[in-house]
Amino acid sequence: MSKKKITNLIIGSNNLGKIREIKHLLPVNLKIYTPRKLNIKSPKENGKTFKENSLIKAKFFSRKSKLVCLADDSGLEINILKKKPGIFSSRWAGKKGNFNTAIKKIFNQLNKQDKNWKKKKIKARFVCVLSIYWPEGKNFSSMGKIEGFISSNKKGKNGFGYDPIFIPIKKKITFAQMLPKEKFKIDHRSRAFKKIKKFF
Ligand code: IMP
Repeated sequence: MSKKKITNLIIGSNNLGKIREIKHLLPVNLKIYTPRKLNIKSPKENGKTFKENSLIKAKFFSRKSKLVCLADDSGLEINILKKKPGIFSSRWAGKKGNFNTAIKKIFNQLNKQDKNWKKKKIKARFVCVLSIYWPEGKNFSSMGKIEGFISSNKKGKNGFGYDPIFIPIKKKITFAQMLPKEKFKIDHRSRAFKKIKKFF
């Protein structure tokens, strides 16, 4: 493992919501690049786990840019949907990344599974695996999770993706109703980041 602190970094994502939240975790003096800025398209995510996909992205963007890469693979797991959408979380939003469509799909699947789901506590969690990949091939991955429940309707305007339907455990509001700094105190991404903070 490289002992030298990372000073230049590419964030291995083309998801603007994710990039914004990852930037928030990183030290301010870091020189940050994005694939969009360097005109690099995203690779195919053909892994079977969050960790595999996170490493696929970290390796791909590091190789293309010759920079250290920090990539994130994350998603929402819903217990009664057999952990779906899981690694397919962004794919459920289609090519255009439409989360109204993705959330409708979740509500449809929940209706199919249990007509009375809105009256029940539907257990779910957000999972995030962050991977760092150094140009010489070294890499490190860490996982963070936050348990919670699915809201019976969309609430709030902050955040991105599935934030309007996720109520974290011990809270009464969704991630999208929280101030960003409140979300970042407890979310899956900041929990994963705590374990790799030492590299920065
Ligand atoms: P991927 O890791 O780029 O394949 O995409 C992960 C997908 O999971 C995102 O596009 C979101 O749909 C969802 N997701 C991951 N983290 C969050 C979060 O913090 N809030 C809301 N949705 C998230």
